[in-house]
Amino acid sequence: MTSSQDSFIPGLNSHRMVDLLLVNAHVLTMDEKFTSFTDGAVSIKDDKIIAVGSRSEVEEKYSATAIFDCGGKVLMPGLVNAHTHVPMTLLRGLADDLRLDVWLMGYMLPVEREFVSPDFVRLGTLLGCAEMIRSGITTFADMYYYEESVAIATADAGMRAMCSQTVLKLPTPDASSFEESLAAARDFITRCKGHPLIVPSVAPHAPYTCTAEILKATAALALEFDVPLHTHIAETALEVENMRNDQGMPVVPYVKKQGLFEAKVLAAHCVHIDEGEMRTMLHAGAGISHNPSSNLKLGSGFAPVRKMLDTGLNVGIGTDGPASNNDLDMFEEVRLAAFVAKGHSGDPTALPARIALAMATRLGARAMHIGDVTGSLEPGKRADLILVDVNPIHNSPRFQRDPNGTYAQLVYASKATDVTDVMVNGKWLMRNRVLLTLQEEDLILHSQEYARKIDVFLINREHSVLSKLIAIGGAMEEESFEVQIKIPIPDVAPVLKALENPDIEIMRTRHYHQYDTYFLFDDPDEGRLRYREDDFIDEQGQVTNVRSRLTLIGADSEGHFPQEVLLSRSRYLAPATHSLRFYREYFKPEREVEIEKDRLRYLVDYEDLEFFINVDRLIKPELGYFLEVKSRTWSRKDAEIKSKLAASLVNILGASADEALKKDYFDVVSHT
Ligand SMILES: [Zn+2]
Repeated sequence: MTSSQDSFIPGLNSHRMVDLLLVNAHVLTMDEKFTSFTDGAVSIKDDKIIAVGSRSEVEEKYSATAIFDCGGKVLMPGLVNAHTHVPMTLLRGLADDLRLDVWLMGYMLPVEREFVSPDFVRLGTLLGCAEMIRSGITTFADMYYYEESVAIATADAGMRAMCSQTVLKLPTPDASSFEESLAAARDFITRCKGHPLIVPSVAPHAPYTCTAEILKATAALALEFDVPLHTHIAETALEVENMRNDQGMPVVPYVKKQGLFEAKVLAAHCVHIDEGEMRTMLHAGAGISHNPSSNLKLGSGFAPVRKMLDTGLNVGIGTDGPASNNDLDMFEEVRLAAFVAKGHSGDPTALPARIALAMATRLGARAMHIGDVTGSLEPGKRADLILVDVNPIHNSPRFQRDPNGTYAQLVYASKATDVTDVMVNGKWLMRNRVLLTLQEEDLILHSQEYARKIDVFLINREHSVLSKLIAIGGAMEEESFEVQIKIPIPDVAPVLKALENPDIEIMRTRHYHQYDTYFLFDDPDEGRLRYREDDFIDEQGQVTNVRSRLTLIGADSEGHFPQEVLLSRSRYLAPATHSLRFYREYFKPEREVEIEKDRLRYLVDYEDLEFFINVDRLIKPELGYFLEVKSRTWSRKDAEIKSKLAASLVNILGASADEALKKDYFDVVSHT
């Protein structure tokens, strides 16, 4: 025995009957004092721990209908995975080594929109539960869609979870609007509250994917039902930078302003928060999930874990979703948490093994606001526990001198496969490495069927630039055509002079500076994708407004103009909601061409035809001036317009245009 008997409840009767005695174990209670018993025992009745102590003490006071010899293994609380998206097991390995936005907006969300259903979520959850039970996890905090199906599957597997129904400002696989997903969250919470294994909750996904209204409404819902609220906070430096630019404050004060901390918050990541924000979270009683694998894999940064703990925050450890990790292995996660804290601070004492293990158990449960139920082996808590074999070849030999040696052994050398037995709520889920509630072969077989379907979907999508564009919600299935004529001009003055012609009615004038980046692909049939930034210039020459647009320009172009990319045919247009970098990484063009120009654009009415006249000065490459006339109605596929435009051009410009047209310098692009 290495510690006190504090956690031992003096028996009411001299000899009490319990259901089960676990004996001959090295018991790590993971309580506040890190009480442990080298020859320990635990007594269990129904779903609860009745007593924890030395074997002799426990056996003296309790008799049981069943006695389980732990064979000298470590008996400890089950690990608490404080943040994950379990059904994403079915998307594991689908797209990797991408930036967060490309990964999320380019792959995860489109595939989820297509495939996520109650069936998908159930299968993914069961698969995840099998993996988690095998790695000694007894409790997890989930955030996904169709969360009621996640909850049912989790309860069927026998695990404990906080199940959080996602609410987003975007349409989700299970709701077309935020109101709908909020109503679904309310229904789910109403039905599920009080379940012995499941804590229902609501998950506004993140401040940048939710509106202020959503943050307020979800906090109000969590308060109304007294359930936790699960969210992502300050995962990347970009998120914080955008928040500062948009709201003039970092993420934590912003969500506080929306009343989020009125609820019992579990916040994943918190990689980029300062000490003031930590204190705010402490006062709010908010818990944090630190997810080192995910932060490392996505390059999000290093969470200030030591500072968080020193502040007094409950910091748990999470795997995050299996599509961004890519596994649900808490042993790996705990080790990484310790190593990253040491490596990043340059201080090997920054996060000792037993503190890391406390994060993965007691502190994680507290962060999830269920610290009274699970997270340590203490009388009155639920019997959520695991046995770990600490004598395999990779963990031999064992020393007795330092009582902290066992924590180091578990954190630095144990593997998930060393977990032999798992119990949740007094019920065995794994005995001697055999899962008792799940059929692994069936789960693997069914998940492979999903993988096949998703492969086909993505192969078809990657087939063309257009389908990739549509997949990221470009809302641009509408094809439009344009009729345009473009000629080089030596000087801009004659054009401006010509526009003074009283027969030309100038309806509107605009001045832009345009920066175009063309993505070119190996297969010319793919067309060209143009990312255009329009800077609107006012009369004082100041930029008043910036607009970014994306245009997929059809493959075929007639004529032979010096800059091939200036020609156009069919077009699919969309506002560019992502950065140029996002599109570059998502579309992976073979090469890029950059064009910069100053454009004066006139909308004119001439001889009963409304059309645009663009006077361009090509700055990059330096090609001088160009004149472009362009039909206004892009949907009109009219050869007649083409000839009218040509005639107008000749009329406006006189002989010089006539000459240019004759020389075949022009290009006419139309779709007939
Ligand atoms: Zn997450």
